[in-house]
Amino acid sequence: MTDDQAALEMRGINKSFAGNTVLADVSLSARAGEVHALVGENGAGKSTLMKILAGVYQPDAGEILIDGQRIRFARPSDALRSGIAMIYQELSLAPDLTVAENIFLGREPLSFALLRVVDRREMNTHAAGMLKAYGFKLDPRASIKRLSAADRQLVEITRATVEAKRVLVMDEPTSSLTAHEVEDLFHLIRELKTRGLAIIYISHRLEELDFIADRVTVLRDGRAIYSGVWGEISRAEIIRHMAGRELKEIFPPRAAARGETRLRITNLTRKGKFREVSLAVAAGEVVGIAGLAGAGRTELVETIFGAYHADGGEIVLDGSKLDKAQPDLSVAHGLGLLTEDRKRTGLCLNQPLASNLTLANLRALTSNWRLDKKREKAVAAEHIERLHIRPPDPDKTVALMSGGNQQKVLLARWLFADSQVFLLDEPTRGVDVAARSEIYRAINRLAERGAAIVMVSSDLPELLGMADRILVMRRGRLVAELDARQTTQEEILRHAAVDQGEQQAA
Ligand code: ADP
Ligand code: MG
Repeated sequence: MTDDQAALEMRGINKSFAGNTVLADVSLSARAGEVHALVGENGAGKSTLMKILAGVYQPDAGEILIDGQRIRFARPSDALRSGIAMIYQELSLAPDLTVAENIFLGREPLSFALLRVVDRREMNTHAAGMLKAYGFKLDPRASIKRLSAADRQLVEITRATVEAKRVLVMDEPTSSLTAHEVEDLFHLIRELKTRGLAIIYISHRLEELDFIADRVTVLRDGRAIYSGVWGEISRAEIIRHMAGRELKEIFPPRAAARGETRLRITNLTRKGKFREVSLAVAAGEVVGIAGLAGAGRTELVETIFGAYHADGGEIVLDGSKLDKAQPDLSVAHGLGLLTEDRKRTGLCLNQPLASNLTLANLRALTSNWRLDKKREKAVAAEHIERLHIRPPDPDKTVALMSGGNQQKVLLARWLFADSQVFLLDEPTRGVDVAARSEIYRAINRLAERGAAIVMVSSDLPELLGMADRILVMRRGRLVAELDARQTTQEEILRHAAVDQGEQQAA
């Protein structure tokens, strides 16, 4: 189908990697001033299709047209020159540079153009102005490596708005953002539409598309299954197109009996991060922790795990006090932590599935200082089966697995380490609907066998669907405890929101 108004058309795109067909005859068109949502499960081919558009990969067949003109991009800089910019799913900032330097990388304002002297003042002022206009609270002079995953994402977004002249591709831009930041982003997207940009927006969160999408294309197994005006078919139908099957329940019921208290923390304080936090979690229980980015949730679970020294308070696990901040001791006592940024602090991406899975309990596989490779494989096979890890291949390099399956590998790691108390920080970030419900099932299985679970999440429907109780943190303090069956998203947000003029707590 040709489309007169299309600013961009991709026609009949095919792509295989090492003989595996990843895209088969995919067509997609995007109009100026519109948001075209691209949805599909993990591995459907969304990122690959967009990387072809951005000049990262070459298609095996098919063509790309801009304003009806056929073009070829041999490399990303060619696409940029045609005004096509992309926010990548895997963040791509220079960690040693500042926020402003990343935003203007390669296009810095020069004070003596011939000498290529970068006008840092001008650059910082310009960046500060943009960030302020976008509502992003970031210091242009801050170094990227000191920023949280959410803040880095905001920098990526800002940079892409500088680069994009015709088409802006956003690959799951909200996966690490809080509700407030997502709202700011949606404002920005509406503003970018009025500049006449065509925006291709990849997301697995269908609920957010109601706010921004004009049209939608569903990819499944490398094929475009459906394309149409947003709202023309129901969300349930879109999910069915994505999954190729009915999704009975996203949040499966849990049959866990409440047992003894397994984790109790009392007045735990880390200066400048959180103070006097007390909570208890029983066997079979899932306790959710809600709050805005910067409320201290990640710092809290990392301190419980022993990654940082607390300045006061105590942590008691199954009756024994953990008084040394030593993660290996915590693991020996039965604590497991799933970090927010699984690629940075959780997984060895270039290692196979099996070695990632057994990492926290190598002792069980070692005799006479030698790792029993055969047993490692057997253990991996057993956990692959238990948590439905895909592909079911112990030798698969973790970097090549989908986000949902990477997360299952981490859950399996703690399961094999015989963890009893699981600290999960944003466990389904960047994971699509179907894989998410599998992670929820895996969490339920852990609870049903007596584990106590603390789950930090910015996804409120997820907290409401999974937690028994929801604790709300604001500026380093626990400010509310809510019964998940009684409360609402609005009530949680009311507690999480910071009042104007409220003093820094810690
Ligand atoms: P999505 O973004 O929809 O989750 P991707 O485009 O990332 O999907 O991946 C589609 C398929 O292509 C997956 O099976 C993935 O493993 C494979 N794939 C993606 N990039 C590469 C690559 N560089 N080499 C080999 N396989 C790849
Ligand atoms: Mg992707």
